[in-house]
Amino acid sequence: MIVVKKFGGSSVANEERIRNVADKCIKEYLAGNDVVVVLSAMGDTTDELIDMAHSINPNARQREIDMLITTGEQVSCALLAMAIGARGIPAISLNAFQVMMHSTSRYGNGRFKRVDTDRISHELDSRKIVIVTGFQGVNKYDDITTLGRGGSDTTAVALAAVLRAEKCEIYTDVDGVYTADPRVVPEAKKLEAITYDEMLELASLGAKVLHSRSVEMAKKYHVELIVRSSLHNVPGTIVKETTQVEEMLITGVTADKNTGRISVLGIKDEPGTAFGVFDLLAREKINVDIILQSIGKDGTKDISFTVALDDMDRAVEILERNKELLSIKEIASKKDVAKLSVVGAGMMSNPGVASKLFEALFNAGINIRMISTSEIRITVLVDQVDIDNAVRAVHKGFALEL
Ligand code: ADP
Ligand code: ASP
Ligand code: MG
Repeated sequence: MIVVKKFGGSSVANEERIRNVADKCIKEYLAGNDVVVVLSAMGDTTDELIDMAHSINPNARQREIDMLITTGEQVSCALLAMAIGARGIPAISLNAFQVMMHSTSRYGNGRFKRVDTDRISHELDSRKIVIVTGFQGVNKYDDITTLGRGGSDTTAVALAAVLRAEKCEIYTDVDGVYTADPRVVPEAKKLEAITYDEMLELASLGAKVLHSRSVEMAKKYHVELIVRSSLHNVPGTIVKETTQVEEMLITGVTADKNTGRISVLGIKDEPGTAFGVFDLLAREKINVDIILQSIGKDGTKDISFTVALDDMDRAVEILERNKELLSIKEIASKKDVAKLSVVGAGMMSNPGVASKLFEALFNAGINIRMISTSEIRITVLVDQVDIDNAVRAVHKGFALEL
């Protein structure tokens, strides 16, 4: 059987950890399985390389940044191949070019279009452990691209899908997926299982334990994921279509600090104005999340919405440039906000989740600035200084503790 194992940055942070990963891979190999390993860069390498890029040129092209930061994965992969080789087991490291992992043309945030299997299958057939660089793809210009921060998870799922692997294990620095980030809420509980839909909401709303695109892809190609610790040998969390775990009202609480709020004030209260604003942003590929529109008064209205912080300055600049055209009186923005979300399939059949959430925030004295809901989640925007307290209060309010 083919097994894909992915190890994140802290799991390969130093020589000792790399040897630990080598041992895990060899154990799987000696059990007679075909082993494909996907690695992230060692420790904080990616952050350090990005800092270096910004220091040498604050306006560096994303193409060059991608060229730079993808080297991190190449280092960890080559070292793991050597560590496995030192134990007498054949291993080979491959980058996205050698595998041919085709991505969309955009730098910094590529998506996989197609992944070839010939080279990997060939190496597996000759009984090698195959180690593949996470987080990178090759675009139609034959340039290297990255998949967005945390993208190595997506590399692992893509390979598990095309190779039809029996297992896809994501090894990380926590024991699984918890009801909240265990670093913020020490009482958070590890989940035995979680559905793709719930995990997708959690991941796209800030729980960085899995890259949201990896969950999207796992759902699409029916890849069952196991999230588990690279250091403790304990069962992790299974991410799959349905779970039989006792029905909980909500599955988890998550926070996203990478968010900012923009308000366009005094816009004409007539058909087409919202379209004008959001079409402009969509054309610039700026994703908008929570949207709130005020009731019109005296022929004008206000629209507020959230965007990712990295897109905020660009969004404001574009709106400022088109202020007259869109008949906007004033544009205001706020960066020190954060989103808190509760997620759970249980809320579909249970009324009262929203009021419980608001009660918990009220008891903690936290003001809500915006609210948005979907079938299985509720998101509120709060001030960034309040977010950690808010997560703890809500986690407690829903009695998610151990
Ligand atoms: P890796 O380097 O292995 O990819 P990440 O740092 O990307 O690891 O993701 C693991 C981190 O995700 C944990 O250290 C934890 O702080 C954070 N995290 C956030 N929300 C959750 C959650 N609900 N369950 C588990 N971990 C979470
Ligand atoms: N090394 C990359 C990052 O830090 C990819 C990953 O870790 O998944 O974002
Ligand atoms: Mg990660």
